[in-house]
Amino acid sequence: APVVVWFRKDLRLDDNAALATAADTGRPVIPLYIREPDAAGTGPLGAAQAWWLHHALASLACNLEKAGSPLVLRSGAAADVLRKFVPETGADTLYWNRRHDPAGISIDKEIKRVFKAEGLDVHSFSGQLLHDPTRLLTGEKKPYRVYTPFWKALEREGEPPEPIEAPKHIKAPTSAPPSEMLDDWQLLPVKPDWAACFKDIWTPGEAAARERLDDFVDGAIAGYKVDRDHPALDATSRMSPYLALGEISPARIRHATRGLKAPTDDVIHFRKELAWREFCHHLHFHFPALAEKNWNERFDDFPWEKADKHFRLWTQGMTGYPIVDAGMRQLWKHGWMHNRVRMITASFLIKHLMIDWRHGEKWFRDTLVDADAASNPANWQWVAGSGADASPFFRIFNPILQGEKFDPDGTYVRAFVPELEHLDAAFIHKPFDAPADVLKKAKIELGTTYPKPIVDHAKARERALAAYKSLKNA
Ligand code: FAD
Repeated sequence: APVVVWFRKDLRLDDNAALATAADTGRPVIPLYIREPDAAGTGPLGAAQAWWLHHALASLACNLEKAGSPLVLRSGAAADVLRKFVPETGADTLYWNRRHDPAGISIDKEIKRVFKAEGLDVHSFSGQLLHDPTRLLTGEKKPYRVYTPFWKALEREGEPPEPIEAPKHIKAPTSAPPSEMLDDWQLLPVKPDWAACFKDIWTPGEAAARERLDDFVDGAIAGYKVDRDHPALDATSRMSPYLALGEISPARIRHATRGLKAPTDDVIHFRKELAWREFCHHLHFHFPALAEKNWNERFDDFPWEKADKHFRLWTQGMTGYPIVDAGMRQLWKHGWMHNRVRMITASFLIKHLMIDWRHGEKWFRDTLVDADAASNPANWQWVAGSGADASPFFRIFNPILQGEKFDPDGTYVRAFVPELEHLDAAFIHKPFDAPADVLKKAKIELGTTYPKPIVDHAKARERALAAYKSLKNA
């Protein structure tokens, strides 16, 4: 009887324990992807990630076909789909790789319980994280709440298991079960095609992920520790969208960083970032409320503004602060934003505009190709100061100084805010301070061609600090 392999956020053949084990049985394997309803285990699918998912599924289908057994697409609640699908195919075995988000886990547990009771062989495998969140615990057998001890514990565990190579051949069933058509799922935007630029920047698919990883470990990882903070440089791995849908495994990335010629400091720093992903996922596993509620309940009383207009201007990259606007426009145009600028734009929304971090989290979820149900809220709460091991609220980023420090000649700003292209570098992060003749020369009319600041930095800072001090025990 065939083995069904249920793909979720693990859209790859490489280092895929469920698929490799199924292929090793020598029995026919039926790869299945279920488009679950939005609120189910995969988390609400944002529009930018839907674009990526379309291409990731097309690429996975092509690779599975080449290996021997085509991908079947179905939609609906996973339990309902599987209840029909398994008997329809005559399968007696169901494999998947474990997901670690709380909603997904409860769906999977129930499916396992029901099918096992019916005598089906149901088995789940690990591989989506470097280490199992139920096992990496403190001395008191509690989850880690602070990053540094977590990182040290992760290092003590040593290397994750060796990645498993993709199966060379996957036996197909004698007759392939009918599949829904990917195009019918309408994952791509139609009109207007706001994702038109994505394809110039990104190549979804596991082959592209490996190529990008190889390039990164052969090149930009040397210098990573310093260069990773400069948004104008292509100095980071850009593995995040591939990781988000599992086109590459974290173990594959971690293993690629062994035996490199690059300076140890750079390699360790990169591994530490990968460990931040791990930390976010472990936190989300142990504390599901992290995605929606303030980790630190003191923030429940925070006097957030209901500033719809300011929120809209932030999303559009029209705040009058060039580094913030460049970041928000990069996000819209490329479905991705540089980490340093994610911190600046998030801080600006929360502290300068005093808008609840949850609004920003939701916007990022819809516009990021790497939107991740654990990393996104955990990072938003980190910036807000309400999260686990968070940056203190009173550390308020100054968008002008941040811009001057990390984008000194304004290359990044100019790339995304063309209205400021000709502005002298001395004023590129503060056009509002530029003398009239400098603005005129750069063909800028503040308030017309580029916005005046929507809030004054110094006043906004004072307001945020006062609001914070008003909290009990702040
Ligand atoms: P690299 O610098 O090459 O890092 C390698 C990998 O490490 C990344 O691919 C990512 O998996 C992981 N990583 C790096 N930094 C972090 C971090 N701070 N937290 C968790 N993992 C990290 N990352 C997401 O993957 N999805 C999100 O939805 C997301 N939302 C964010 C929201 C905010 C407000 C902030 C400040 C950060 C967010 N991040 C998110 C983290 C980080 O910005 C991205 O992971 C990183 O920019 C991706 O680029 P890269 O792959 O080139 O990173």
